Amino acid sequence: MAAPNIHSSGQPTRSCATGMRCPSCGQTFELTETEAFCPDCSRCLDVTYDYELAAERIKGLGLSERPQNIWRFEELLPIMDASAQARVGQYSGFTPLIHAQRLGAELGLSNLYIKDDSTMRPTLSYKDRVVSMSVARLLELGKSELGCVSTGNVGHSVSALAAKAGVPAYVFYPNRLEPTKARACRALGARVCQLDGNYDEANRECRRLGAEVGLEFANISLRPFYSEGAKTEGFEIIEQLGWQSPEHIVLPAAGGTLSSRAHKGLIELETVGLAQTAHTKFHIAQPAGCAPIATAIISGDQEIHPVTPTTIAHSLAIGAPGDGMLVVDAVRQRGGVAATVTDAEIWAAVDLLGATEGILTEPAGGTSIASLFKLVEAGHIGADDVTVAVLTGNGLKTIEDHPDKPWLMGIPCHVDAMRDALEQLREGATAGVGA
Ligand SMILES: *Cc1c(COP(=O)(O)O)cnc(C)c1O
Ligand SMILES: [Zn+2]
Repeated sequence: MAAPNIHSSGQPTRSCATGMRCPSCGQTFELTETEAFCPDCSRCLDVTYDYELAAERIKGLGLSERPQNIWRFEELLPIMDASAQARVGQYSGFTPLIHAQRLGAELGLSNLYIKDDSTMRPTLSYKDRVVSMSVARLLELGKSELGCVSTGNVGHSVSALAAKAGVPAYVFYPNRLEPTKARACRALGARVCQLDGNYDEANRECRRLGAEVGLEFANISLRPFYSEGAKTEGFEIIEQLGWQSPEHIVLPAAGGTLSSRAHKGLIELETVGLAQTAHTKFHIAQPAGCAPIATAIISGDQEIHPVTPTTIAHSLAIGAPGDGMLVVDAVRQRGGVAATVTDAEIWAAVDLLGATEGILTEPAGGTSIASLFKLVEAGHIGADDVTVAVLTGNGLKTIEDHPDKPWLMGIPCHVDAMRDALEQLREGATAGVGA
């Protein structure tokens, strides 16, 4: 089937998207359809592609001619209008894959890699991948306002990427969010509204609001497109490992978009002949205070039982994960397990990562690393297995929550006092001094 062109006026991209499909009942929809959810099953629609055409088009353009951003394999992404695509995501993606030798030594792993989305442009989290797709889709539809409901990072991505595209942004936050996270949205020019409800309640009401007033929501009404952006995480990991898919990937999960779509991305790479990826196991990391997906994996359930989140990892505090069952299926299909970790274990992992690799991650990244420890301890990961842990966000955003360590304060600014202070610091004997 030929890929349709949304805007007859615009130049087409190389996208090989063909339409959308309900993952539950299999009903198909045109790519021009603006419903995000199946009218019968209310499941989020999944974008479909012509993979034969994609394989052909991918062969037709060499790697050196492709941009090093999220549009690198645009054949496998859902945006049709080149002018819309060109207005977003040009500087997003292609985050470093770091050989974590010092952290690996702590764990007894010789081939540990960190996929570091904490350095993502423009807003330092994995969310710039998915929101880029939403903004491109919004522009493709000719719409001029963008809303979102956010646990923090989506709001940053929407604020920054909408600003760059010249589109006003409206950010709805649930309660209990780090105040500094919402503040960054205002600094980026977005209009911010904090709601008196948790994420799942906020999400439900934003869905109603969007439908009533016709406001597009990056992660609700544009969700089929948003989700596709997460495949780029998978594409990049495999390419950065020289097209050798690793034995293990450890991913933190909230709503389950990242892990379910990274899974889809790996399948697609295999389908178009770029890499063999079927052996790669996916391990899911969740905080113990919000682990509905991990619980379903561990107990072998056929459905997700929603929970009320209580965790410091606010980015992962989604109690009713929309893509939860897709993640469970991905883990069952590939092999892999789930781990849950306490807030204390999360902070300990954040600190160890900082001290060994010099990377400051937010609690969601700490959840990946703490889970990695449990997986190694339980014998799921072998000493020489190629293993990738995904870090999804930056710790500068959550530094106010970070349990502080002792330091020296109020030392006279004179060399004599400073010589004593340095001695104390060398001995690490700072407990009880200062904060
Ligand atoms: C959104 C987010 C995730 C993963 O979320 P999914 O909904 O599972 O895709 C992980 N870490 C951080 C920091 C995030 O912001
Ligand atoms: Zn359906």
